[in-house]
Amino acid sequence: MFPPDSAYRGRFAPSPTGPLHFGSLVAAIGSYLDAKHHHGTWLVRVEDLDTPRCVPGAAEDILRTLELFGLHSDEPVIYQSRRTAAYEEALQQLQSSGAAYPCCCTRKEIADSALHGIEGFVYPGICRNGMAHQRATPAWRVRTDLNPSPVEFIDALQGRISQNLVKEIGDFVVKRADGLFAYQLAVVVDDAFQNITHIVRGADLLASTPRQLYLQQLLALPDPHYMHLPIAVNEAGEKLSKQTLAAPVDASQPVTTLLRVLGFLRQEPPAELAVGDIRTLLDWAILNWQPQRVAGSLMLPTNN
Ligand code: GLU
Repeated sequence: MFPPDSAYRGRFAPSPTGPLHFGSLVAAIGSYLDAKHHHGTWLVRVEDLDTPRCVPGAAEDILRTLELFGLHSDEPVIYQSRRTAAYEEALQQLQSSGAAYPCCCTRKEIADSALHGIEGFVYPGICRNGMAHQRATPAWRVRTDLNPSPVEFIDALQGRISQNLVKEIGDFVVKRADGLFAYQLAVVVDDAFQNITHIVRGADLLASTPRQLYLQQLLALPDPHYMHLPIAVNEAGEKLSKQTLAAPVDASQPVTTLLRVLGFLRQEPPAELAVGDIRTLLDWAILNWQPQRVAGSLMLPTNN
């Protein structure tokens, strides 16, 4: 066993929108192996803020599945749905420094005048200097032009990443008009709250990282290290997700499933471990963890 004895603090932060599928198990296992290889602490956080998308019972199901793979959070699991006071406080900080402004625009108003960025429309700044019309509950956006130079960081697997938030993303929403806090704000507040030093997750979140680094800067929070693992794609090149009807992971045969995850991440356990128990295989994977074997891959195929 590997009790935590270093400053490394990692986490797995699933959204409970359905059972764990292969892609999310890769993020769980990758973050766990990296934390334990460095004798660190590994935490699970349930990102259940987007209540309309959350499925009742999914969080418990995910936690049960992780246990079957031998993955236990080193500290009590936290739930974002119970932390809105912390997000409200962060929003107030952004409001009082002038970094966040209320926005009354509808999707249609934005679509009518906006250019496309890398993730949908780049908000054209209509409400930047005051709302164009009143709205009882506005959305709150963060100005991206406070530091207009590109946000840059070195990802442990994907190398140097640079993104111009003003041009590629635009002023982004931190609190939605329906009152829900956005993932980008909550994730930054919680990573700091849990003193996370290393974030290992799927490369589908690579494009979100500059927004998170930017918010960390605005809120004077520390920047963690980032490692983005390749995402699992099916034969059609589509990300495995609920939308592509990815099957839930088979937790009844954890050794077989873990071997598939390790194979996907180009780790090569000796053949005899296939007939051993899950703990032995996991301990081998911790000791021999070599994430560099998937360096530079944003996506890899899987037969799952
Ligand atoms: N909850 C996010 C998701 O499931 C992951 C957040 C993260 O790892 O930063 O996509």
